[in-house]
Amino acid sequence: MNYLKQLIKTILLVWFSGSLSIISLNAQTEPQAPCYFDEYTNNKSILKTETAIQASVERLKNNLMNNPLADSSKVIPVVVHVIHNGGSENISDEQVESQINILNEDFGKIPGSNGDGNGVDTKVRFCLARIDPNGNCTNGIVRINSLLTYHQTYERAMLTQLSFWDNTKYLNIYLVKTITGGILGYSSFPGGPPAEDGIVVRSNVFGNTGTASSSLGRTTTHEVGHWFGLYHTFNNGCGDDVCFDGDYVCDTPPQASPSFSCTTLNTCSNDVPDENDQKENYMNYTPGACKDMFTNGQKLRVQATLDTIRTFIWSDDNLVSTGCDTNYIAPEICGVAANFVTLTPDICIGNEVGFMDISLNVATSWQWFFVGGTPESSTLPNPSITYNSIGSFAVKLIVSDGTTTDSLAINDYITVSNPGVGNALPFSEYFDSGIFPPQGIIINNPDGGITWGLDSAASVSGGYSIKINNLININYGSADEIIFPYFDLTSMLEPTMTFKWAYARSDPSFSDEMLVLLSTDCGSNFTQIFYRTGNALATGPTQTTPFIPDSSQWKSAEIPLANYASDQYVQIKIVNITDGGNNLYIDNIDIGSLVTGLEDTDDPGDIALYPNPASDYVMLRFTDNTENRQVKIFDPVGKLVLSKDIGNALTIRLSLNDFPNGIYYLGIWKNNSMKMKKLVISR
Ligand SMILES: [Zn+2]
Repeated sequence: MNYLKQLIKTILLVWFSGSLSIISLNAQTEPQAPCYFDEYTNNKSILKTETAIQASVERLKNNLMNNPLADSSKVIPVVVHVIHNGGSENISDEQVESQINILNEDFGKIPGSNGDGNGVDTKVRFCLARIDPNGNCTNGIVRINSLLTYHQTYERAMLTQLSFWDNTKYLNIYLVKTITGGILGYSSFPGGPPAEDGIVVRSNVFGNTGTASSSLGRTTTHEVGHWFGLYHTFNNGCGDDVCFDGDYVCDTPPQASPSFSCTTLNTCSNDVPDENDQKENYMNYTPGACKDMFTNGQKLRVQATLDTIRTFIWSDDNLVSTGCDTNYIAPEICGVAANFVTLTPDICIGNEVGFMDISLNVATSWQWFFVGGTPESSTLPNPSITYNSIGSFAVKLIVSDGTTTDSLAINDYITVSNPGVGNALPFSEYFDSGIFPPQGIIINNPDGGITWGLDSAASVSGGYSIKINNLININYGSADEIIFPYFDLTSMLEPTMTFKWAYARSDPSFSDEMLVLLSTDCGSNFTQIFYRTGNALATGPTQTTPFIPDSSQWKSAEIPLANYASDQYVQIKIVNITDGGNNLYIDNIDIGSLVTGLEDTDDPGDIALYPNPASDYVMLRFTDNTENRQVKIFDPVGKLVLSKDIGNALTIRLSLNDFPNGIYYLGIWKNNSMKMKKLVISR
C-alpha cells in the first residue's frame, strides 16, 4: 500500500463554487502487500513518536474520565510567513485572519459555524502571535518578497532560512503562490526535525476571502491535523485492526483508499458495526464542503501530541511571551520592527547578495547601509549588492512607516572570500574503504532525517556502495547532498565526471530525483548538469520491497565538464530528492579525463614530434612562428603533468625525465585552438 505517501503528503482537492475539480497527485490505487509498515516502524524517530502518543492517549482517557475539568482548551500561537513576489499572493491581513477563524471553528466545533458537524471540540484554539521572538509587537504576519513563493518541495529548508520563529513557541505557517505537483499544502509530523517543523500552504486556499474566496480553508485544517499527529482516515487502507492500525484511531471507520467526492461510500467491512467511510472527516481527501468533523479519538491523539511532544507551545508561560494569553493588552501603536535576511551570507569576491526586508508591521521606507558593498547604500526594500573585497562586513537597515522608525545592524553578516584553487584531478571515490563519509566528502542532510550511508548489500566493485533509502523517507521533497571537494578543472584535459547508479521505483507515481549540480562561484549558485527521475532514473523493476541491484542493474552516468575546463575552483554535488520511492545507490565515482579514447588529430603537418617513442626528451618543431603558443602534456589517465609557455619558438626541447613510461598526450594551445599528438615514453 502507499502507506507512507498517504501519511502526510497532502490534500489535493479544490472546491470551486459548486463544481468539483480534482487535482490529484497521489490518488493512485492501493497496490497489494507487502506493506511498508515494518520498515516504517523501524524508523526510530517515528516509532518513538508513535509509541509516546499512544501511551499518552491511554493516560488521557483515564485522566479525562476522572477529571473532566482537565479538558480545558489549549491555545497555539501562530506565525504566518507570507512569501510573495509582489502579486496577489501577498494576501491581506484580513484573509490571513479568516483562516485563523476557520481553524478555531473547525477544531472547536463552534456552534453555528461550518465546523459544527457530528464531531467533537478538540479543545485546541489558535491565536496569531502578538509578540515576536524578540519581544516586538506584531500581528503575527511576516511578509517576505522572494521567488521562493514558486515553491519546490525540496526547497523546504530555504523557507526556514528566510524566516522561522522558534517552533517550540509558534506554529510556523508558510504561504506560497505555487507548489510543485499541484499540491495545495503539506505539513511536518510531530517529533520531526525542528528546522522543517510547520506547514506550507498555497495562499489562494488559505482562508475564505480575498484570493481564497472560493475556498473553505479546509486545506489548512487538514494540514494542521497532521501537525498534531493525525493520519489520514484511509491510512493503511482497511488494515487489520480498527484501533491499532490504519490511523490509530478507533472511532474513524477504516477506509480502503482516499475519496475525492462527497458520495457516501463503505469501502471496508472489517469494522463492527460496519460503518460508512467518514467523508465528513477533515483527515479524509473529500472536498472541503462535505468535511466538518474530528472524532473523539482524533481529539485524544491531538491532545496526546500536546501532552508529549508539543508541550511548551500552549503553556501559560509561552502564551504570555507570545501575546496569546487572555490578559494581553496590545500597545496603542504597533510600530515597525526592522529585520532582514539573505540566503547567501557567505560568498566569493565579486558575487552579488540579494537582501530581503522582513521587517514587521509594514515599513514604507528603507535605508540600507552595506559596509564593503557596491553600492554602499540603498533605499529599495530588497536591494542586490556586490562585494568586491575580502572580509566580513556589517549590514544595517533603518525602516519607517511614517510614524515609527526602527533599525537593525548585524556585524560580520556577510563573509567574502577568494575563490582559491581547488584540488588537482583526477578524483576517485569507490567507497570501499568502509569509512563514511570518506575523507573530503561532506554529506549535507538539512532535515536531519534519513540520508546517504554506506551499503554492503550492493556494489559495482569492492565491498561497498552508498545508498539512500527513499522507501522509508517521509520527509517528501527533502534534499540529501553528497558534496565533493573543490576541484581545479584546468588540471585535466577534457574533464569528465562518471559514476554508476542503481535505482528502482516503488510505485509508478512516486518520483524520487537524482541531480548533479555544479558551482563555479563558491557555492552561491549551482547549475544542474545531470538529472534523472521516474523511468529515466530506474535501473530495476518497480517494487514495493527494498531494491537491491544485481550486477546488471547499474547504469553509468557520463557528464562532460568541458564547459568548465577553465575553472580552477569548482564544486560538484550529487543530490537525492526524496518522494518516498525506493533505494538509490551510487558507486565508482570518477572525476578526471576520458582522454585515453582520444585520437590523434588529422593535421599533424605543422608540428613534428621526435623522437617518438621518446625516452629522456622530445623535440617539437613548428612550421610557423606564431605568437602565444603553449605546450601541455597529459599523462595516461589524463592528468596535466606539464604546462609551458613557448612564445613563438620554432623548436623546443622538453625533458621527459620525470615521467614514467606510458602513452601521453601532448597538446599545443594557441589562443582557443588546440592540436593534440600522442607521445609514447619508453625506456
Ligand atoms: Zn494529508
